[in-house]
Amino acid sequence: MVVGIDLGTTFSAVARINPQTGLPEIIPNSEGSKITPSIIQFAPGGLVFGSEAKDAFEVGEDNCITTFKRNMGMGKEYCTIDGKEYTAEELSALLLTHLKEDAEQVSGEKIEEAVITVPAYFYSKEREATIKSARRAGLKVRKIINEPTAAAIAYGLNHWRTNAKILVYDLGGGTCDVTLTAMKNESELNTLGTFGDHYLGGRDWDARLGDLLLKKIEAETGINPGEDRETKIIVTRLAENCKKQLSQKSPVKVPVSLPGFGQCTVEVTREEFDSLTADLIERTGILCKTVLDEVGFTWPDVTDILLVGGSTRMPQVSAYLQRISGKKPIAHVNPDEAVALGAAVQTQLKDPTYNTLAVVPKDAKKNKGPDNKLSVVSERRITQVGILTVNEVTTHAMGIIAVNEAGTEYINETIIPANYPIPVKSARAFNFYTRSNSDNELDIYVLQGDKKPLECAIPYKYVVTGIRHVKGGKTLIRIQYSYDQNAVIHVQARQEQDTKDLPIRIEPVPEDMSKYGRPIETEVFVPETLSILLAVDVSGSMSGDPLSDAQNAMCAFVDDIDISSAEIGIIAVSDRVELVYPLTDNAEKCKKAIRGITCGQTGYGNDTHPFKLIRKELGNRKGRRFAVILADGVWSNQDVAIRAAKECHKENIEIAAIGFGGADEDFLRNISSSDANALKVSQSELTKTFGSIAQSMGSGGGGNNARDRGSSGTETWEEEE
Ligand code: ADP
Ligand code: MG
Repeated sequence: MVVGIDLGTTFSAVARINPQTGLPEIIPNSEGSKITPSIIQFAPGGLVFGSEAKDAFEVGEDNCITTFKRNMGMGKEYCTIDGKEYTAEELSALLLTHLKEDAEQVSGEKIEEAVITVPAYFYSKEREATIKSARRAGLKVRKIINEPTAAAIAYGLNHWRTNAKILVYDLGGGTCDVTLTAMKNESELNTLGTFGDHYLGGRDWDARLGDLLLKKIEAETGINPGEDRETKIIVTRLAENCKKQLSQKSPVKVPVSLPGFGQCTVEVTREEFDSLTADLIERTGILCKTVLDEVGFTWPDVTDILLVGGSTRMPQVSAYLQRISGKKPIAHVNPDEAVALGAAVQTQLKDPTYNTLAVVPKDAKKNKGPDNKLSVVSERRITQVGILTVNEVTTHAMGIIAVNEAGTEYINETIIPANYPIPVKSARAFNFYTRSNSDNELDIYVLQGDKKPLECAIPYKYVVTGIRHVKGGKTLIRIQYSYDQNAVIHVQARQEQDTKDLPIRIEPVPEDMSKYGRPIETEVFVPETLSILLAVDVSGSMSGDPLSDAQNAMCAFVDDIDISSAEIGIIAVSDRVELVYPLTDNAEKCKKAIRGITCGQTGYGNDTHPFKLIRKELGNRKGRRFAVILADGVWSNQDVAIRAAKECHKENIEIAAIGFGGADEDFLRNISSSDANALKVSQSELTKTFGSIAQSMGSGGGGNNARDRGSSGTETWEEEE
């Protein structure tokens, strides 16, 4: 048997498809109740669940653990019992084990698999934690579905209307979620958008009422009950009870008995309560408005408003929603059971894995505007559950911290937008600068949300490792995010056109991320433009092999330089100096110019030097400026040449001097901008020597953040077979 489980913060429920009727039904627990409190008591005799655990919790007995669902995926311990630490994941596993065994006992059937519901706002991490908890409890997870979607499914069973748009309003104990779903065809339910507030729920109403009770107690008795812990617990409990009673009647009389304080009775009316909490209910209205805006709807586009979550029992909820929408919300789905029933329907899915993938087009924003042809077919009661296709959307946008085009700030580059149909894969290419002599790793910070990096949740840090150093130091890293059917995220990375994924290491997100909120100070990310002049000696001694070897070496050098961020010019020097080809980023033209050089084209002696011309040509260039001089003999006016070379050094033009044959080593050192750049080599080593210079020019960059390629399109890659 496969079951649907509503693993709630305060209550849980288990449901299945009845094999006789083909319809979902709740499997009551062994106490005969349709819901089981999500409370575990660690009692001396073992674990206690159900009403016994709830009673123990309510009278304040020790070791009663509840509301651990809020901490799912946090990885930290939630409580310590008898010296043993428990994480929320472990506690959920204990609860699931109980729910499973209890349902097995009641139904007499073995349960191995389940569809489990989670709040729509649950991040990938919390979903993964839920899957792990289930595994610990010996349950295979067929699918994770969102609670509001499950509620919509349950509602759809009795009220299916093709093209109806259902706004699911879920106000629970600690959270509020608003989801818009559409009933398409006979058997397709599509989530259009979802939005929620993690910190808005019944507890906030309790707190307001608690404050009011305290004021009334003081007014009644003349004594301030104070703020100690015990008073707070008692008042909060009184407030929640009073709130629930106010859902039935008004006024409500609250008998108070506080320790060491005597007894009194205070009275609260529904009007008082409603006006005290008006701003809270209005906040839920903003959530509705946000979802509607997001999908391009207005209230008239909504067919039905469906209320789920215990807090929607407060009469103010319906009244408020009716006021802002002009529609009477529907509350006849039992909010305690609807979610589990909807999950049970999804157990019918045979193959929950996906085969069609949505691809996010560039500049994707959801296709806006309602599908307005509301051809409401008469309401249909589903008599047997077939396979219902449910298409969900991403709750949060998924982005990456990248560097903007100008290299000045960190930005959130969205890879998958919010409210996009899932499953989905989307890849983006980013520039990355490699270094030749270090491990090349790229940090990926996954951002949930579409605000600035530090205004988003940053649940993961992935480190892409094993990035190859490339010529010129600039490479493309393609990063692919995928959201699977369970809204769990997966990250892959590939270098350039490779078809194999780079290894990825997962690390904790550093405590201090503040750097990503500040402008970028260093210029490491700005692609360094290189301007290079190659000056070759064409005096008589170069005639024949020396010149052709030099030409080959220079052509190989041009190939070695990443010309997309560099420009190269050619100079011939002997008795005179000539700019054979000005700085260009056209590698072919540059090589053609090199091949066209002839011995003696500027005379057969060595009367002059190229440094004045080099200064002139490189003078107005930004970025790194470089000249490589190739000589095979001794120049006539070495002192003049050295003085001119030093002028270049002063202007930060780097000079490398390669000498072979009869070249004078001291002279090479004097014209070079550093000793390391003076290279006396043999003729056969020319290509290698030029190669090492090209390499050293390429390794100047380096940076460990993806740099936005800006105009890059969106792409995905297929899974390897
Ligand atoms: P969750 O899904 O977050 O566990 P539930 O959907 O079970 O939450 O709702 C729990 C909340 O509903 C609690 O804040 C509880 O006080 C509130 N609640 C339950 N019954 C009523 C009622 N009759 N009137 C008002 N609030 C109620
Ligand atoms: Mg709930």
